[in-house]
Amino acid sequence: MAMMSDNISQDMPVVGRFAPSPTGPMHFGTLVAALGSYLMARQAGGTWRVRIEDLDPPRVVPGAADQMLFLLEALGLTWDGPVVCQSQRFERYREVLDLLRAKDLLFDCNCSRREVLASAPHRGEDGPVYPGTCRTGMRGRRAETAVRLRVANRTLSFVDVIFGPRTQNLETELGDFVLHRADGEFAYQLAVVVDDMDAGITQVVRGADLLASTPRQIYLYECLGAALPYYYHLPLALSASGEKLSKRDGPALIVTRENGAQLMWQVLRFLGQNPPDELRRSQPRELLDWALAHFSCGAVPAENRCFSPKP
Ligand code: GLU
Repeated sequence: MAMMSDNISQDMPVVGRFAPSPTGPMHFGTLVAALGSYLMARQAGGTWRVRIEDLDPPRVVPGAADQMLFLLEALGLTWDGPVVCQSQRFERYREVLDLLRAKDLLFDCNCSRREVLASAPHRGEDGPVYPGTCRTGMRGRRAETAVRLRVANRTLSFVDVIFGPRTQNLETELGDFVLHRADGEFAYQLAVVVDDMDAGITQVVRGADLLASTPRQIYLYECLGAALPYYYHLPLALSASGEKLSKRDGPALIVTRENGAQLMWQVLRFLGQNPPDELRRSQPRELLDWALAHFSCGAVPAENRCFSPKP
C-alpha cells in the first residue's frame, strides 16, 4: 500500500502554487483556490508560484490569463518567480513521456470512447473503467492513437490534509489512463505532475473537484520516482442546484478590481474563517493581513457547500 507520507519530509521549505485554467474570467471558485493556496503557503513562510494551465487550446479564452494575473496583483496576491505557462512546456512533457515509455509503462491505444464503453467492466467515478484492451497491442478501430499509462492492481492510499484518508485501486476503479490524447494534446494528469515536480511544489491546494484525480497523480509521481507534495483540497462552492458554481451563476461571482476585496471576505467565510464585519469593505491589504494572522486550516470544512454571493 502506498502511503503518501512515505516519501515526504516535513522539514522541507513549503512551495505552494495556484494553477488556474484561463478558460474564462476569474470567479468565486477561482478565488477560493487562489486565496487558499496563497494563505497556506505564506503562513508557512513558503513561496507561492503561479502557473497558467493553457494546455487545451480550444478552451483557452484570449486575455483571460492576463486578466487573472492583473487581479492577483490588484488583490495583493503576489507570487514568486516567473509565471509558468503549460503551452511553453510541450517539449518537457514529450521528454517525460519518452522516459515513461523507456520504463515500459506506456502503451498506445486506438480504442474509441464507444469501444471503451462497450468493453468496460463497469462505470468508475470518472467514466467507464478501461479494461486494458490495448495493453498487448492495439485492438481498437480508431485512426488516432492515444498513449495510456499502465496502472497497477493495488490499493493506493493517501491522506488529504482537509478531506482525510482516501483510497483507490486504479486498475479496478479507473483503468490505465491517458497521458497523451488521441487529438494530439497532452493530458492534464501528465502536465500537472510534471509541472509540480519540476517546480519543487510541496503543497498542492486546489478545489475538491480534483480529489478524484489525485490517486492518478500520486501514481505518476511514483512512476517518476519523485517526492510527493501534501494535498489540501478545498470545498467546492455549489449553486443552489448542487452544481459546481461557475461564472454562469451570475455576474456577482465574477472577480473584478472593484469587488475583489469583498469577494475575498466572502471566500474567507466560505472557508470556515471568521473575518470581522468591519473588514467587509476594507482594502485587500488589510484583509490579507488579517487572514495571514488568523487563517486556520483546521477550520476549513471538508464538504462542498452552496454559496450565494451577498451584496
Ligand atoms: N487548472 C485547474 C483548474 O483551474 C487546477 C489544476 C490543479 O490545481 O491541479 O481547475
